Amino acid sequence: MRKILLQLDSDRAPSVFDAITAYDAGAEVLLQHGGVQPEEVRDLVYGAMFTRGVGDLKNSAVFIGGTDVAKGEAMLREARNAFFGPMRVSVMLDANGCNTTATAAVVKILSAGDPTAMKVVVLAGTGPVGQRAAALLANEGAEVILTSRTLERAERVCAALAERFEVRVTPAAVPDADATRRVLEGAHAVLCAGAAGVTLVEETVWRPHATLRAVADVNAVPPLGAGGVEVTWDGKEIEGKKLFGAIGIGDFKMKVHRRCIARLFEQNDLVLDAEEIFALAKELAR
Ligand code: NAP
Repeated sequence: MRKILLQLDSDRAPSVFDAITAYDAGAEVLLQHGGVQPEEVRDLVYGAMFTRGVGDLKNSAVFIGGTDVAKGEAMLREARNAFFGPMRVSVMLDANGCNTTATAAVVKILSAGDPTAMKVVVLAGTGPVGQRAAALLANEGAEVILTSRTLERAERVCAALAERFEVRVTPAAVPDADATRRVLEGAHAVLCAGAAGVTLVEETVWRPHATLRAVADVNAVPPLGAGGVEVTWDGKEIEGKKLFGAIGIGDFKMKVHRRCIARLFEQNDLVLDAEEIFALAKELAR
């Protein structure tokens, strides 16, 4: 029986990146749908649920992607609502790579020390990657500060994280370089989670920093998020700090993504969202 992945993407053209990764991870057939709206998900998922016997349903799975993460989350809710009893298929949400990227970055940061003794600053953490990374770090027991250029936006995001992940993340406004220096005082790790092509911390700030042990950057588009941290670095040590660039993190992210797709076909009742993908990432890193 062939392994069929139903790829639901909110963008008009389903992601080629997600399709190739799915094939590389062992999916044998891809049924791709682009421009999917949340209200269309139930009927599409029914097609995957009602075609094979319960014992064979692990050979069908759903992947939810697209650049609009909020829409992806709504699509995941619709998919879960379609399931009942044993009539279900495994499903993964990785809209815009948010879950696999955040989990990979967090695993790298955790390699720098015990999270319960760490203060971590997620710079420009209001995007999908930063939000998930902040929540996962807080869930591991780290003291987490999430920054935005505006306090109001940081506060709104932290309130949403408290509701969705039941974690406490502290909001902070960081509109300029002076504020960046201040927010990093006493920090043990910093994650640059800003939009592509935006430098958030300069080398002159992180290099001489007294307490930082890890600097991670998920922005692969020059200028990079952390000045002086090369994209390919994967734990390079300078001045007592472990440095992770976007490709260093991205290589592990790809492993996590592929492992998640493979796991979808091992059982018919998996739901892979941030927390479950993080658990798989930690397993892979061991
Ligand atoms: P995003 O939503 O595009 O941006 C994150 C935050 O950056 C925004 O909420 C905004 O925060 C801040 N920002 C935007 N323009 C800025 C500017 N000019 N100066 C300072 N801050 C600015 O990011 P994302 O989708 O979460 O992705 C985060 C990073 O991960 C991106 O660099 C992306 O390219 C990368 N990424 C990598 C992969 C991968 O596979 N390697 C996958 C997904 C994403 P405020 O408005 O609140 O200040």
